[in-house]
Amino acid sequence: MPAMINQYVARKVALKDMQPCAICSKPSTTVLYNASGPDWLYTCDIHLQDNPQFASPIYSTEYNEALGKLKLVKSKIERLASAKNQIGSWDGWVTKIFSKKEKQKTDSSENRESTTTATADPPPEVEGDPDTLLETQAEYGKILDEVAELRRTNRKYELAKIMFESRVLKKRTDQLNRERYLKEQENYSNTDPEELLRKHAFPSVPRQDKQ
Ligand SMILES: [Zn+2]
Repeated sequence: MPAMINQYVARKVALKDMQPCAICSKPSTTVLYNASGPDWLYTCDIHLQDNPQFASPIYSTEYNEALGKLKLVKSKIERLASAKNQIGSWDGWVTKIFSKKEKQKTDSSENRESTTTATADPPPEVEGDPDTLLETQAEYGKILDEVAELRRTNRKYELAKIMFESRVLKKRTDQLNRERYLKEQENYSNTDPEELLRKHAFPSVPRQDKQ
């Protein structure tokens, strides 16, 4: 029997299939399913949030990359903001934005060619440039939304070590019980199979809700 991997996917089952939560026993339609066992346990959604004593999310590569980008952009904002503060007063900063905008307007209305050139060949990034700071803040907001969405849609979890160990143990016990049952069936083939089944009610794999 291959070793069970600590990787569970949160699935929804139909209302009629709900079962008691493994933690608080309240009926729940969320089941953590582990294909490598297979193993599964029902849980309230709330226990999956910020609860590493029970389970922690396993985020995708995409999520980790977005998070890395977020950190980079955040430190860039801090750099730009501190550079901005060194330029001078708030008034001076605002004046600079408007004078720059005015200049851009004049450029584009008077000489289209030069504007095109300027767009095609952007000026080197100036630390403390208010436009750069605003752009970077907008970029930060965009990546933050992306990260939040990837967090929200994550369905993969790993159980806390002690929790997972108890699942592995339970799995082994179930396996032994099953083997014993099969042997019993073999030895007492004249026993009513219905009665045997009643004595050994094996749980069935939860079926995912088709919603
Ligand atoms: Zn619960």
